[in-house]
Amino acid sequence: MQKKKYLLPLIMLLIFEAVAVTLWLTKDNLFYLFNFSYIGISISLGLFLFIRKYKYARRIVQLLVGLYMLVYLGLICSENMQIEGFWYYLFTGVFEAATIHYAVAKIFGPLVFGRGWCGYACWTAMVLDFLPYKVPQRPRKKIGWIRYVAFAASLIFVSALFLAKVGNIERIMFFAFIIGNALYYGVGVALAFAFKDNRAFCKYICPITVFLKPASYFSLLRVKCDKEKCVSCGKCKKICPMDVDVTDNSRKRENGTECILCMECVKNCPKNALK
Ligand code: SF4
Ligand code: SF4
Ligand code: SF4
Repeated sequence: MQKKKYLLPLIMLLIFEAVAVTLWLTKDNLFYLFNFSYIGISISLGLFLFIRKYKYARRIVQLLVGLYMLVYLGLICSENMQIEGFWYYLFTGVFEAATIHYAVAKIFGPLVFGRGWCGYACWTAMVLDFLPYKVPQRPRKKIGWIRYVAFAASLIFVSALFLAKVGNIERIMFFAFIIGNALYYGVGVALAFAFKDNRAFCKYICPITVFLKPASYFSLLRVKCDKEKCVSCGKCKKICPMDVDVTDNSRKRENGTECILCMECVKNCPKNALK
């Protein structure tokens, strides 16, 4: 029983290793072995620390993966891993870098691990989670439609570059990555303070949620409530950074596609009803 609880980090490590080895061999590129092994080890380490009840387990993974992607892949290797980078590689017909990243972390991966990306890897949230409003202080606003505008704007921007046959798009993508990130951080921090909610950017603006939300609806990995144990105290909903009603086990639970699997509800349930 003691050993069984460590199965999840082991499975996660094996999944990432399988992706790493497959891509390394099929693409004949050692980078994929390093990249996905690093991410797999970071996530498994976080899960291991979480099981050991280490308070900062999630934050450690967030920093290990987020900084690696932002600093190493983005700034040093000049890979635009933002949504514009995804459109760029998609339009050039190249299945590598951002397209692989999106396929694994944001389009198909959420069918298994929901919005784990948002809780454990995103370099935007890595910074936002340091802000003071970990628990939202105000009710959710009905302005989630902004994400679709941001999504369309990113697609139009990259399409326009291709249609206008602009030269050296790769260089533009690098600057788009720097400016895009600065914009995300600026807007994210401003919104967090304005709405007294660290995750306001994630809830209303982030264009990537257009991919993340539909797939995470079907997520294999999700927090479930044992109705026999639950005393309807409401603590889980109050503490949830994403306003999820985790006491409802149906797929249609309120804000269900917003769950970032941070496990704050699980840790804080006085009756151990969540797992
Ligand atoms: S919603 Fe967007 S900004 Fe927020 S954690 Fe997810 S990917 Fe990052
Ligand atoms: S915190 Fe636990 S007991 Fe309270 S409502 Fe949530 S699941 Fe039920
Ligand atoms: S507190 Fe629970 S329901 Fe809310 S995002 Fe975290 S894991 Fe999901």
